[in-house]
Amino acid sequence: MTKNEFLMKEYGISKELVDFIDECEKEAEPYYKRAEDIASLNQMRVMKAFANNRISEMHFAETTGYGYDDLGRDTLDKVYAELFGCEDALVRHSFISGTHTLSTMLFGVLRPDDTLLAVTGKPYDTLEEVIGIAGERGNGSLADFGVKYEQIELGNDGMPDLTAIENRLKKSFVKACLIQRSKGYAVRPSYTAEQVGEVARFIKSVSPDTVVLVDNCYGEFVCECEPTAVGADLCAGSLIKNAGGGLALTGGYIAGRKDLVELCAYRLTSVGIGKECGASLGFNRSMYQGLFMAPHTVLQAIKAAILCSVVYMKLGFSVLPEPSDIRGDIIQAVTFGKAEGVIAFCKGIQNGAPVDSFVTPEPWDMPGYSDQVIMAAGAFVQGASIEFSADGPIKPPYTAYMQGGLTYESARLGIVMSVKILKESGVI
Ligand SMILES: *Cc1c(COP(=O)(O)O)cnc(C)c1O
Repeated sequence: MTKNEFLMKEYGISKELVDFIDECEKEAEPYYKRAEDIASLNQMRVMKAFANNRISEMHFAETTGYGYDDLGRDTLDKVYAELFGCEDALVRHSFISGTHTLSTMLFGVLRPDDTLLAVTGKPYDTLEEVIGIAGERGNGSLADFGVKYEQIELGNDGMPDLTAIENRLKKSFVKACLIQRSKGYAVRPSYTAEQVGEVARFIKSVSPDTVVLVDNCYGEFVCECEPTAVGADLCAGSLIKNAGGGLALTGGYIAGRKDLVELCAYRLTSVGIGKECGASLGFNRSMYQGLFMAPHTVLQAIKAAILCSVVYMKLGFSVLPEPSDIRGDIIQAVTFGKAEGVIAFCKGIQNGAPVDSFVTPEPWDMPGYSDQVIMAAGAFVQGASIEFSADGPIKPPYTAYMQGGLTYESARLGIVMSVKILKESGVI
């Protein structure tokens, strides 16, 4: 039996749809090549960092209690620092999510009366309460501690508005600028590491003492380098996204300038203790192996995103990025223009997941988000969005965001299923 015969017989996919997907895949293939070259480079960079740090069985040993002299933990920080082209890193399973990691970075660096300037428009939804733009007073947000916040909207082209940034930086001292690399729930381009670096270097050229912080979620290993290698001071991300390679069970990382990483470590653990403590409890092995897998896993996700982009562009929807665009992250946005489109798409993605394929996702009021959100995720690690997943807020322009896929083959099935459900529900 061929794969198309299986799709038709076992998944009830029409001949017309299997042929359409084959045709889309042919069109996508030249773009896969570019991503494959980047993955090969990043894989070698990981291998070299492992070799340079002489990674061996002893780094996977577990520690308990205070976790003094945890060689695996301390060396993993060095491996990350090498890969991120920076001085130091803080890679910990005890970061509970990307938001926690980013919150630790912001609280680590900012002090009362400092100003935080978001230079890529409103930051990711869950950071609103951390900063204190949303939520109550008295809850311990940055605003509560007297950290001022300003933001600069993106230009019409979706890129940072350098003139507005320069004018603001010249007005009075800004302690830190925040750059969000990935589009999040916005319809704008995600930025490559080099584009983030360009903005960082520009900020430094106007105000050398301003610290440049990057929300690097979903961006790791998509480009040839990371933002800290080309001008950013710190970047942070989640290990259940790209950098964990699908194997890390939880965690996050902060990488960058040594003095700033130490301040973040003081915030995560305790002032004075910082990076010296924190038992790894046996999590080191999956964090190392996940990092080893990460360039390849990210490639699977990017190939899935490119295929999705070709499929939905040919079906007449607006897609971002388009198949030929250079990518800065693993996210593929498809704009349906109506709620039913987002809902049907997510249902299809869910049907094509390895875990919970029988579940029907529904829009709900998710903590930390202001609009109703629908999420399709059938993951081995709860909520891991390096695994094949899709989500979207139920609000105009009704855009669904698809990301991840531990294997291209499984994600391909999910994309086929999404088209099937959209057809069945009459959206297309
Ligand atoms: C996922 C994400 C976050 C938050 O990460 P969580 O793990 O969901 O808390 C922050 N910023 C961006 C751009 C993200 O994609």
